[in-house]
Amino acid sequence: MDRTLALGILLAAILLSSLIRTPYALRRRRIKINSSDKDLQERILLGLAGLGMMLLPLVYAATSWLDFADYGFQPWAGWAGSFIMMAAMWLFWRSHHDLGDNWSVTLEIRDQQGLVTHGVYRSMRHPMYASIWLWCIAQALLVANWLVGPAGLVAFGLMYWLRVPREEAMMLREFGNEYAQYMQRSGRILPFGQHPPAH
Ligand code: SAH
Repeated sequence: MDRTLALGILLAAILLSSLIRTPYALRRRRIKINSSDKDLQERILLGLAGLGMMLLPLVYAATSWLDFADYGFQPWAGWAGSFIMMAAMWLFWRSHHDLGDNWSVTLEIRDQQGLVTHGVYRSMRHPMYASIWLWCIAQALLVANWLVGPAGLVAFGLMYWLRVPREEAMMLREFGNEYAQYMQRSGRILPFGQHPPAH
């Protein structure tokens, strides 16, 4: 494992995640949006996440502009990053699969949206965000560069922190008690919550 292979794995993940997402994005274009919370804050957060997780790694791979921030590459970090990235890709794919037509890149409720509580959604409410956290940890391990490595963690961390409370408020508004009960029995990004008493 060397610096180039580790960067190659990150680039492969960028390509694979786009391939996973594209069919869902295309299918969803046909479904009417009922309500949208996509405002300036959402647009800025999406832009920052794209910058930190995709654009900076691509610029780093294609140019030597960011090489000034390089530090020594450790093979163990490359291996750990690769395994974490494989887990991230699996969960990213499963969460798209289980969410199906209910997925959207921003905060939206579409026509005939249902509440998904099965598959990887059974015990955690945000498996897709969990997969993106794993991705960002993997990115930090795969890229031995002070700027590009942590860029995903910083950008997505901000997005996660600001978006999740709004997303859960939106889901509560839309699904009421059904979502409140789901919140009781699930965790946010870890697969366990406070389970209700058995009786
Ligand atoms: N936060 C989820 C989904 C991300 S996609 C995750 O991390 O896995 C964001 C969109 O998914 C939101 O606009 C919302 O409409 C939809 N959504 C989120 N949780 C959902 C659920 N349990 N069932 C159906 N749709 C959901």
